[in-house]
Amino acid sequence: AGLVIAMDGPSGSGKSSASRGVARALGLRYLDTGAMYRAMTWWMLRQGVDLADSDAIVARAAEPEIVSGTDPGGPTIHVDGIDVAGPIRETEVTASVSVVAAVPEVRSRLVALQREIIGDGDIVVEGRDIGTVVAPDATLKIYLTASAEARARRRHAELAGTTVEAQQAAMARRDTIDSTRRADPLSMAAGAVELDTTALNLEEVIAEVLRLAEA
Ligand code: C5P
Repeated sequence: AGLVIAMDGPSGSGKSSASRGVARALGLRYLDTGAMYRAMTWWMLRQGVDLADSDAIVARAAEPEIVSGTDPGGPTIHVDGIDVAGPIRETEVTASVSVVAAVPEVRSRLVALQREIIGDGDIVVEGRDIGTVVAPDATLKIYLTASAEARARRRHAELAGTTVEAQQAAMARRDTIDSTRRADPLSMAAGAVELDTTALNLEEVIAEVLRLAEA
């Protein structure tokens, strides 16, 4: 089977840029599993599903067709044929995604889809539960961390119209939901290598992962 590199960690740890960079350097495919949870959330919101009602989420979770393109040079995400790469990054989706992602039926459906895409490997997969649940047999498992302040600063740099403080508070709320839910909490996989990116720039993070992949 081909190489599978699992890149897990909280938001703002630098996962996306690092994962894409590693995939490009090694000629591998790239899968952003967070985009799939965001796409599911975007669809639920558009359908007017009451997200406070987990039974309502469960009842509709099998409906949307979610398709992820795996080119690290230009990853794509479509829901029922609609390009949602932009909308899934908007604040409404970001504020609701943790609630939708906490529903076990949503997770089991997306995990199955993710395993289908991983197939025979040759892919870098980023998320929260890749090393623990989606691909526990991954060739290399990385767990990225960074200080809360560094993570908020990075997210702030990506988004206009927020303060670092507001960003830090919103991310802390999301991480609390992500790490305390009963289904697959965010945690480090057995055999994962922890990489603290607080003091590293993107090139340094990529170089470190490549070094670990060669070892
Ligand atoms: O990585 P990103 O910030 O886009 O992920 C958005 C949300 O999707 C996370 O806050 C989390 O709730 C959920 N997620 C998840 N499992 C993954 C990837 C993302 O629950 N593997």
